[in-house]
Amino acid sequence: MKFGGSSVGTISALTQVISIVLQEQERWDRLILVVSALEGVTDSLIEAAHLAQLSNRRGYRRITATIRARHLSLIDELPLSINERSGLQADIDQLLFDMLNQCQSLSDISNGTDMMNKTDEIIGVGERLTARIIASLLRDNNLRGVAIDSTEIIITDETAGNATPDLLLTNQRIAQHLVPMLERDIVPIVTGFLGGTIDGTPTTLGRGGSDYTASIIGASVNAQEIWMWSIVDGLMSSDPNEVDNAHVIDELSYEEVAELAYFGAKILHARMIGPLKQHNIPLRIKNVFKPQQDGTLIHNTSAKNNHVIKAVTSINGIALSANQSGSLSRISAIVDETLFKTIGTHADVMISSQSSSRSFVTFVISTTAGPDAVRTSQIALQERLQDEIGLSNWNVDTTAIITIIGSELDRNSGIISKILRIIDKTHILAYSQGPSHHSFSLVVNTQDSDHILHRIHDFIVNNV
Ligand code: ASP
Ligand code: MG
Repeated sequence: MKFGGSSVGTISALTQVISIVLQEQERWDRLILVVSALEGVTDSLIEAAHLAQLSNRRGYRRITATIRARHLSLIDELPLSINERSGLQADIDQLLFDMLNQCQSLSDISNGTDMMNKTDEIIGVGERLTARIIASLLRDNNLRGVAIDSTEIIITDETAGNATPDLLLTNQRIAQHLVPMLERDIVPIVTGFLGGTIDGTPTTLGRGGSDYTASIIGASVNAQEIWMWSIVDGLMSSDPNEVDNAHVIDELSYEEVAELAYFGAKILHARMIGPLKQHNIPLRIKNVFKPQQDGTLIHNTSAKNNHVIKAVTSINGIALSANQSGSLSRISAIVDETLFKTIGTHADVMISSQSSSRSFVTFVISTTAGPDAVRTSQIALQERLQDEIGLSNWNVDTTAIITIIGSELDRNSGIISKILRIIDKTHILAYSQGPSHHSFSLVVNTQDSDHILHRIHDFIVNNV
């Protein structure tokens, strides 16, 4: 079971977490928990690391003090024994003291790679803090909870900030360190998000990476099921912040959920689905405040689910177009470089198309890049292309990519033609049916996206 940041961030949610663990450990032989940092803590830690890079000592000290106060006041309010409470206070102080030292040494580093590794060490403190809190709570409830730092368990490559696990080595470590604990009735509480290279340098698995940790461990121990707990009811048919009548999706196939994560649902780490699909492990998404509800089940669904639209998503992107055709490699390289400089992430090319005299390329900007990222990237690209010989005739516009998700949508279902009929009057910049049969995307002008999203969602609601 993986507990996300929102489910461990408040007293009321934490109380639920403990009662869920106590109840479920009676039902299941063996239980492994994976935990995230308290909600918002990773963002603060990233900010602290950033200030440390700028040698802003006062800035990162201020953030550390806030993080410390938040954890201390949380444990103050929790029903803990004197022993566990004082142990936790000492652990929190020690971890944050070490982190301040890491910030200090980060200020002194000028080498880029060392800087990235130090940053990963700093931003992983949040998960270590949570794991200790949950372990204490379980021990006070007569369970043998032990907090485990995953730096020496999830063995990864050296890519700081978004490392890829070496599954062979990781499986060995899990077999050596975690499995024997289960045999001794221990409930391991593993830090999500964190990994480490073979020589022990800390890494992280990318934002939202605790999901991935749960999936790697679950696949490795051949788990019967993986449950991911948060404070939403499950995966939704559309973003409930944008579409009022969005509903919980009862079940999805691995392929559908992979598309959903890729095309914008912020709830799942995109890389977590691979291991589950490979080992055919069911995944449940549940709400800690409504544990009796089924939530969303992701598994190997049968053909009865085909030709049904499950969800529609909308993500912001940037479209580049020009009155010329030819190789797109130079423009792609420049976009990638500019985006990396501006918002620190690489460009994901979504759709590109060409005719005899025109070219069109769309990129998406990751939702984790922040609310202004699309605008900032657009300006940066415009400026950069002006200066490039032969590329100044490219236009840079913001766009939206609307994606419908379901199974076998393209196979004689008539669904795509129905969708096109619904949005008949809208100007569509490009379509893509994609290499998977589980999604279909439309690129539209930003101002049209809201309307289309609602129209397509109404269609889903009327057809379930
Ligand atoms: N705490 C990390 C993040 O905020 C990992 C996670 O929550 O899954 O990205
Ligand atoms: Mg998450």
